[in-house]
Amino acid sequence: MNLLIMGLPGAGKGTQAETIVRDYGVLHVSTGDMFRAAMANGTEMGKLAKSFIDKGELVPDEVTNGIVKDRLGEDDIRAHGVLLDGYPRTIEQAQALDAMLVDLGMKLDAVINIDVDPSVLVGRISGRFICKKCGATYNKPNKMPKVADTCDVCGSHEFFQRDDDKPETVANRIEINTKQSAPILAHYREAGLVHDVDGMHSIEETTREIKGILDAI
Ligand code: AMP
Repeated sequence: MNLLIMGLPGAGKGTQAETIVRDYGVLHVSTGDMFRAAMANGTEMGKLAKSFIDKGELVPDEVTNGIVKDRLGEDDIRAHGVLLDGYPRTIEQAQALDAMLVDLGMKLDAVINIDVDPSVLVGRISGRFICKKCGATYNKPNKMPKVADTCDVCGSHEFFQRDDDKPETVANRIEINTKQSAPILAHYREAGLVHDVDGMHSIEETTREIKGILDAI
């Protein structure tokens, strides 16, 4: 099964992606995570990506398309399928993805679109914090660690906030994403692939809605 998950920053994409990956065995390909890994490793591509990401801008298409194509061509994706997250972010990337999938003999089965009211998002994102050790994500006040200041996954006590989750870049990211996602959704709606789910409910209800869709594919 090859899937794409869409939703504005803070819509709950990352959380729902974790559940889909766990329950359906597909591999998570998040361009944001790939860029963060490259930045952490200090690669040339990571340095280039950082100069855009720190300003809340998109990394240029030629860089982004290249890393996605390389990843989709790997054997584990062919065997288990993929959940693309954070890509495509521009209509040019959507067209590049269509061409890549044809080249690789793959097809998209569904686009899950998590729908939320943009006015709640700045608050949600500004409340996001991440475990320094294992990368588990939390959110004030909806998704706090079960034991105060202790990561549920690895027990670490150290957390951080992503630079691009800070209020000054969040508003810019939401504005860019809103503008960019409209033609992409239209592209996939035309192909009959989009399933809209309500992201204003609880995490569990949204998960149930997504499972209903994926179980019917
Ligand atoms: P994310 O974790 O998906 O919010 O991505 C964090 C940042 O990485 C974004 O704000 C962009 O600067 C960059 N990025 C992630 N995915 C893409 C993409 N498909 N195209 C361009 N830039 C991207």
